[in-house]
Amino acid sequence: MRALAKVNPGPGATIQHREIPIPKDNEVLLSIKIAAICGTDLHIYDWNPWAANANIQIPGIMGHECVGEVVDIGRKVTSLSKGDRVSVETHIPCGHCQLCLSGKPHICENLQLFGLQTNGCFAEYATVPAICVRKIPSSIPDEIASVLEPLGVGVHAAQKADITGKRVAVLGAGPIGIFSACSCMALGAESVSISDIQPNRLKIASECADVTAWNPLTSKSTDVLTGTNIPDVIIETTGNERALQEALPHLRKGGQVVLAGLFPGNVSLNLSNDLVFKEATLYGIHGRRMWSTWDLMEDLISSKKLNIQPALTHHLPLEDYKEAFQISHSGEGVKVLLTP
Ligand SMILES: [Zn+2]
Ligand SMILES: [Zn+2]
Repeated sequence: MRALAKVNPGPGATIQHREIPIPKDNEVLLSIKIAAICGTDLHIYDWNPWAANANIQIPGIMGHECVGEVVDIGRKVTSLSKGDRVSVETHIPCGHCQLCLSGKPHICENLQLFGLQTNGCFAEYATVPAICVRKIPSSIPDEIASVLEPLGVGVHAAQKADITGKRVAVLGAGPIGIFSACSCMALGAESVSISDIQPNRLKIASECADVTAWNPLTSKSTDVLTGTNIPDVIIETTGNERALQEALPHLRKGGQVVLAGLFPGNVSLNLSNDLVFKEATLYGIHGRRMWSTWDLMEDLISSKKLNIQPALTHHLPLEDYKEAFQISHSGEGVKVLLTP
């Protein structure tokens, strides 16, 4: 089979021809229909300092966001059958630690990540632990099904802050920012603003949902996040220190901040003024709840409350991976899909 692999700890990736893997007892073999490039894949492709310290399996097949069909099942798998159309939950829980046993397997103490610490889905076939495989309703088309994993981060961000009836400011209009903004609107936020320095991404955000899209290069936060736009909730998806520093003073007293972006280093904030005196709540989120986020997300898509189609901007064959990564990197595309 064809696969896009990371063969050494440095920039780039290589198309390889490999044997089709055989599923272990608790795994299934998927025929991958569509995979999607994640921000994490860009870090791994570039081999930046984060990737170099993220315990990435090398050599290893890249990719973790996908839709596929079950074509073989391990001896002990009873939850899935050949022919099932499925997506993959990246977080592989151990199933027996205190967090797994208390309903938080997505932050398992022994967490492994599909496509980072295991071979992933930028390939014609992939083996996946059955515990991470999700059957997808037929009402959800393949392209949408291929990005449920990152969409789930946006839905989880909205779930975390309980945004119903609230005014939300989303920082960043990359995939996670756009998905967060759409999810907040779908779940009944009173209003959502979204900021980014890339005009094309702001345009796509506006095509997905009725949001106020604004550019910090041409507008001042003091002019936008004011009056009826003072945020009750800030969802941070940029991983950019300055974006958070500029937004946080605008947070309403008693407000909530959800951090989904990854910051490259330490972050300097005025915690006394911006969190303590406001009695604000700060959350981090990692991945999606298994499986309440997936249940909610599938309901929102099936009932047409969540429209992310405009964010699926490019779809290329796997062999054009260099172009695909370039499009993803430049910000020209939002979600870039690959067909193996
Ligand atoms: Zn991802
Ligand atoms: Zn665990």
